[in-house]
Amino acid sequence: MAEVALSNIHKSFGQTEVLKGIDLTISHGEFVALLGPSGCGKTTLLRIIAGLEAPDTGSISIGGRDVTGLDPSDRNIALVFQSYALYPHKTVFENIAFPLRMRAPWFARIPVLSRALPQRRRLEQALQTKVRDAAAQVGIGAYLDRKPAQLSGGQRQRVALTRAMVREPAAFLMDEPLSNLDAKLRSGMRIEIKELQRRLDATIIYVTHDQTEAMTMADRVVLLHEGVVQQIGAPMSLYQNPCNRFVAQFIGSPSINMLLLEAAGANQFTVNGAVIETVPADLRQIARSHGGRLWLGVRPEHVALVPEHASGIPGRVALIEPLGHETLIDVSVLGAADIGTGPDRIVVRAAPDAVDTVRAGAAVRLQPDWQQALAFDEQGRRIAIRAAMAAA
Ligand code: ATP
Repeated sequence: MAEVALSNIHKSFGQTEVLKGIDLTISHGEFVALLGPSGCGKTTLLRIIAGLEAPDTGSISIGGRDVTGLDPSDRNIALVFQSYALYPHKTVFENIAFPLRMRAPWFARIPVLSRALPQRRRLEQALQTKVRDAAAQVGIGAYLDRKPAQLSGGQRQRVALTRAMVREPAAFLMDEPLSNLDAKLRSGMRIEIKELQRRLDATIIYVTHDQTEAMTMADRVVLLHEGVVQQIGAPMSLYQNPCNRFVAQFIGSPSINMLLLEAAGANQFTVNGAVIETVPADLRQIARSHGGRLWLGVRPEHVALVPEHASGIPGRVALIEPLGHETLIDVSVLGAADIGTGPDRIVVRAAPDAVDTVRAGAAVRLQPDWQQALAFDEQGRRIAIRAAMAAA
C-alpha cells in the first residue's frame, strides 16, 4: 500500500518560515490536490515529499517506510513537472524507456557487456512491450520515433506522464503539470489524468494554484495559506462548508460575496451600508453578540436581482458578463460606495437570458438568500449559525 504520511513538517528559508507544521496522510489510490495562492508553500511541500528539499523538522513515510533521510531515487516516487524535463536528443521511446534502462544493473547499461547477457533479448522485448503499452494508453503510440521538439505541448506532457507511469512508482508527485497548455487542452488532460489515476489505482499528490483543477480532479483538497493547512476535505465540502473566510473566498468562481452586517440603532441593521429590514432575527442576534458586526458570505447563486422598487440592498449594474450557460451580473452597492463601509461589489449568478432583461447602469435591488449565508467573525473564523443560536 502506497500511503504517504507527513508529520509535523516545518521548513524555513533564512528568516522566512514557509511551512508551519504540516500533518497530512494520503491513502493509497487517493488523488490529493495541494491548493493555495502563490507563495503559500505548495511546491516546497511537494519537494520535501520528493526528497529534493529536507524539512527542518518532521517526518515523511511512503508505503509505511520512513523516507525522511532518503535520496529522491530511493523513495520510489515519480515526478511530473510543468516543464516536461524530456531529453531533447532522445526519441520519445527512449525518453519513456530511460527510467527502466537506469534500473538495470550497471553492466547491463554498457552496450558491449549487455550484448553478452544471455537474457538480453528477453529483457529488451519486455521493455519494448511495457513502453509501447503505456504509450498506447496515453495516446502517444504513434509518436515513439519522434524527438520532443517535434511534439506539441500536450504531447510532450503525455510523454512525461508515460515516463512516470512505466516506473510504477508508489506515488506520483505532480507540480502544475498542465499550466503550459492552453485552456482547451488543459481541460482534456484533466480528464485523462483522472482516468489514468483510476485505471492505475495510483496515489497522486498534485500541486496547483488553479481551483478548477483541484476541484475537478481531486478526491481531497488541501488548502494552504502562508504555510498553514487551512482545511482538508472533499472539493464540495470546502465549497459548502468552509472553516474560515479565507477558504470561503478562495474556493468558488466568482468568489463568494462578503456582506457586512452592522447594528445601526436599537432595532436597525445595515448591510454594506444600506438599511435592510429583512435580515433574519438569528443573524441580527449573532451580530449583536459579536460587537454589532458580522461578516456574511453569500455565493453569487444565492443572490437575486430584483427591480428597484422591491426591498433589498440598493445597487447599480456595473457589468454584465454573458457566459452562455449563465450570466454574471456585477452590481455596485450604493450605500457601501458612498459611506465606505463593507465591500462595494456584489456578483449575482443569473440565468442566461438575464442578458436580455438587465441593462448596464440600471438601478436594482439585491436580495440575498439569508438561509444560505455563512457567518464569520472579525478574525475570519466561521461561526456556525445553528450552534451559535442554540448557545444563545
Ligand atoms: P507558486 O504557486 O508561486 O509556485 P508555491 O505555493 O508553490 O508558489 P513555494 O514555491 O513553495 O510556493 O514557495 C514558498 C515560499 O518560499 C515563497 O515565498 C518562496 O519565495 C520561498 N522559497 C521557495 N524556495 C526557496 C529557496 N530555495 N530559497 C529561499 N526562499 C524560497
